[in-house]
Amino acid sequence: MFVKRLDKEDELLLVHRRKVIRDYQENGICFSCQNFISGDIFPDDGLVIYEDELVRCQFEKFPRATGQTIIVSKLHYEDISEMPIDLGTHILKISNAIIKLHKEILGAEKVYMCTICDGKRNHLHFQLLPRLKGETIGYQNFVREEGVLTDYQETTDLYREALKSIKFNVFE
Ligand SMILES: [Zn+2]
Repeated sequence: MFVKRLDKEDELLLVHRRKVIRDYQENGICFSCQNFISGDIFPDDGLVIYEDELVRCQFEKFPRATGQTIIVSKLHYEDISEMPIDLGTHILKISNAIIKLHKEILGAEKVYMCTICDGKRNHLHFQLLPRLKGETIGYQNFVREEGVLTDYQETTDLYREALKSIKFNVFE
């Protein structure tokens, strides 16, 4: 798995994705709900590494960091202020497991986490951004230019397998 610079075709795909999201929003349609139904905005393409009735975890196709991962809730919560604490605990347990895998599999030195959930009608989501050895530390890791995730299938298989074997207790 590595992140390649965007070529023209990738840039068009990324621009298209942003446009589709904007169009849904302008029509009052939640793009995340839409994506859970159709997968037309963030296609699985082998990028989904974990899913249960509460959340989906997926590698970002156009990441700002190698292995950038999105954890998104299935239900609407505008941000952490609306998040049920049990759900937060569940998300943290999963994050804990994924972060360990980012260290083991990608050799990440640290893994940063952020949540933005800005704009219209939304789903709670968190971003995990691995910082690999040799990469500069600090906030600039949140705003690096997007690239395109390449040669990732074998790596995402490892994550899926590892996460399958962990029991996350849903609805304690
Ligand atoms: Zn929704």
